[in-house]
Amino acid sequence: HRHLGNTTPGAVLAQLAGGDLHPAPIAWQGLEAYRREGGYALLAKARDGAVSVDQLGAMLEHAGLRGLGGAGFPTFRKWAFVRAEPAPRYMVINADEGEPGTFKDRHYLEQAPHRFLEGALVSAWAVDAAALYIYLRDEYPGLHAVLRAAIAEAEAAGFAEPGYIVLRRGAGAYICGEESALIESLEGKPGKPRHRPPFVAQKGLFDRPTLVNNVETVYWIPLLWQHGADWFASQGRHGRKGLRSFSVSGRVMKPGVHLAPAGITLQELIDEYCGGMLAGHRLLAYLPGGASGGILPASKADIPLDFDTLQPHGCFIGSAAIVVISDQDDLRAVAKNLMAFFADESCGQCTPCRVGTEKMLGLLERDDWDTEQLQRLAQVMQDASICGLGQAAPNPVTSLLRFFPAELAEQGIRLRPAAVNTESAS
Ligand code: SF4
Repeated sequence: HRHLGNTTPGAVLAQLAGGDLHPAPIAWQGLEAYRREGGYALLAKARDGAVSVDQLGAMLEHAGLRGLGGAGFPTFRKWAFVRAEPAPRYMVINADEGEPGTFKDRHYLEQAPHRFLEGALVSAWAVDAAALYIYLRDEYPGLHAVLRAAIAEAEAAGFAEPGYIVLRRGAGAYICGEESALIESLEGKPGKPRHRPPFVAQKGLFDRPTLVNNVETVYWIPLLWQHGADWFASQGRHGRKGLRSFSVSGRVMKPGVHLAPAGITLQELIDEYCGGMLAGHRLLAYLPGGASGGILPASKADIPLDFDTLQPHGCFIGSAAIVVISDQDDLRAVAKNLMAFFADESCGQCTPCRVGTEKMLGLLERDDWDTEQLQRLAQVMQDASICGLGQAAPNPVTSLLRFFPAELAEQGIRLRPAAVNTESAS
C-alpha cells in the first residue's frame, strides 16, 4: 500500500533478478497495422465533427455497453454525468486489474494497445478532458513498455499531443483498483477510498470532474463503431445482450480469456469454450466474479452469467473472472485464501473491514464454525464498510454457509448452529 515512487516492488525485484523479469517480447499490433484495419478512423471523425458526442453516446446506449471493470454502469450515462460538470475535466483509465482471476485487460492491451488508446482518446474527447491518465498495475511490467511505445507512436502520428496521455504505475495495492483510491494514488497520496458523495464524476482527480473507465470498456468503443451497435447487442444468450470477456482459470482443459455471449451459463462456457473439465475432476463450485463475487455450487451451473443475474444467489459477476473448483479442491482452503487476501489488502481505513476480515479469518481456522457469529459479522461488514472491498469480503463465507453445508461437513467442519438457509450444492 505504500507509495514507493519509482522504486516499486516490481522494479526492486527486477534489479535483484538482474534485469527484466518478463523478458519475453510481446507481439503487439503496431500503429500502421492498426490503421490498415481502420484504426483511428473514429477518433479522426470525432475530431473533424463528422460524428457528435450525442451520436456516439446513442450508439453506446443502443449497444448496451457497460463498465467492464466490474460495476457494470452504463457507459453513455457516465459520459453524460461528467459532461454536465464544469471544465476542466479529466479522464482516467483504470488499468489496475487486481481482482484475483482477472486477466482480460492484460490480454487486450498485449494484443491491440492502439485500439485501447483510440477508445480512451475518444472517451477523453467525449468529455473534453484536459488530460488522459492511465493507471497501470506494476505487476504488468511488460505492458509498461508496450504502452510507452504505443503512446509514442500515437503522439508521433498526431493522435495525441505530447504529454496529453500520462502513464502512471501502481504500486501493488488491490484497493487502488477502486476508483476513488486510484485517484488518491494518482495524486500521490496513500490509496484509500473516499467517502461518497461527492462522486468522482463531480469531484475526482485534483478535485475536478473525472471520467474513470476500465481498459476493456474503452477498448470496445472503436469495435462497436466498426461493427455496429446492432451486431454487439445481438450477441447475447438467454435473454442477455452483448459479449463478455471471461477470464477462466481453475480445473478446465483450456483456461484463458474467452469472449462469449453475455448470459452464457457456466456449463456452456466450460463445454463450448474451455474444452470441458480437466480429466478426473468433477465440477463442485465456481467463483463467478473473482474473489469478491461469492461462490456458486455446481447445481447453479445453468444460470445466465451477466450483470444483474446473480444477485438472487448472493453473488455477482464483477469483472467476469471465473474460477472453476472441482471435487478435488478444499472449500475451506478456498474461503481462507480469499479472506486472507482481503485481510491483507484492506486499506485499514474503516473498522468493519480492517477488523472484520481478520476476525473472520480466525473463525474460519476453527473446526466448529459459529454460523450466527459469522452471519452477524458478515452483515456488519456489508452494511458499514466504506467501500466494496469490505462489503464484498464476506461473500465467499456467506456462499459456503448457504450452498455447501454438506461439503463442509464432509471436510470435518461442524456448523453450530446448523446453517438455516441451505440449498443443495449438487
Ligand atoms: Fe479500506 Fe476496507 Fe474500509 Fe474499503 S472497506 S475503505 S478497503 S478498510
